[in-house]
Amino acid sequence: MKTTPDQNWQPETQAVHTGVYKDSTFNSVTTPIYPSSTFAFEKLGVNKGFDYTRSGNPTRAALEQNLAALEGGVQAWATCTGMAAITTLGFLFKPGDHIVTGHDIYGGTFRLLDQVFRGMGVETSFVRMGSPDEVRRAIKPATKALLIETPSNPLLNLVDIAAMTAIAREHGLFTIADNTFMSPYFQKPFEFGVDIVFHSTTKYINGHSDVVGGAIVARDNTFRERIAFLVNALGTACSPFDAWLVLRGVKTLGYRMEAHQRNAMAVARWLSQQPVVKRVYYPGLESHPQHTLAKRQMRGFGGMLSIDVDLERLNLDQFLASLRLFSLAESLGGVESLIEQPWTMSHASMSEPARRAAGISPGTLRISIGIEHPDDLIADLDGAFKAALNSR
Ligand SMILES: *Cc1c(COP(=O)(O)O)cnc(C)c1O
Repeated sequence: MKTTPDQNWQPETQAVHTGVYKDSTFNSVTTPIYPSSTFAFEKLGVNKGFDYTRSGNPTRAALEQNLAALEGGVQAWATCTGMAAITTLGFLFKPGDHIVTGHDIYGGTFRLLDQVFRGMGVETSFVRMGSPDEVRRAIKPATKALLIETPSNPLLNLVDIAAMTAIAREHGLFTIADNTFMSPYFQKPFEFGVDIVFHSTTKYINGHSDVVGGAIVARDNTFRERIAFLVNALGTACSPFDAWLVLRGVKTLGYRMEAHQRNAMAVARWLSQQPVVKRVYYPGLESHPQHTLAKRQMRGFGGMLSIDVDLERLNLDQFLASLRLFSLAESLGGVESLIEQPWTMSHASMSEPARRAAGISPGTLRISIGIEHPDDLIADLDGAFKAALNSR
């Protein structure tokens, strides 16, 4: 028995109920895992809606219905990773097509476009998407789409989504948005006319750092049939086990996002007052250069922030070793706080000049604020700063 979704439900309610498949054999209140690779036909041409798990699976279908409702689209597809989602979307393009995207998009997406799809004849221009003029100048007759990622990683630069979809309309392009950083709880790209949204569900949507996954969501029927065809043809869908984990994780999305944001705001304000911190990047701070845009297109500011620390005054190794609540790790969006150095970790694959041009230095630290108590997070940072100050 499937809960009948209700368009009027608030996101917290959608997350708990939409798509959740209650098995009527034992009246389960959660969706069972169906690890069956194949499903029997009752007779030729008649089955119960599923035939083979690459093409469709009841557990995955439950998650997909849930994600489509949260994002506000007509259909979603759960993929095995975020990269599998963007890989699938890459096949919407033909040799000779051209894409315009930001110079500071997720490194894995950059690598895929630059080193895989380029070799297959699909070219991408990487521009400063904060500037609509630069985007317009990059558009050529072969351009088919704009790929938007906002806020960017690691410095939380925003792209004006409405400005991008306006440019797309002027030039007959379609738009794709990577909504991983905000999740549908804080940002709904479809409200600004974006055509296709994708996610790394590894991050906030699952939120518990225990699975990798992705999702594609279509706003309307324009790309629906083609995406459904591609997910099946390419075999990029996720396993029933992974779908079940993400479905369990997503149920608390709204409450987790509120906690991430409350903590990030408290930590960002505190960090702004520390002499050893030269700069704090967080869209929720009034000092963020795009704070007004953030308030216009986001319902919240998220849980990611970055800082530039003064390496003349802080022994970075000692600081990181002194932290007890922040693991030195890549990834983001989980309930536990993480810290990393983009210079040697998440952004190490960029050339040094490219890192400098993007505003990243060895003193830049990216922090994924978890849902612990903010007082404990601040006390941990405070203790680690004190332990590592002037000690070299
Ligand atoms: C992590 C991430 C991806 C890639 O997702 P995987 O699940 O690691 O394949 C894509 N975009 C953004 C913004 C990400 O943070």
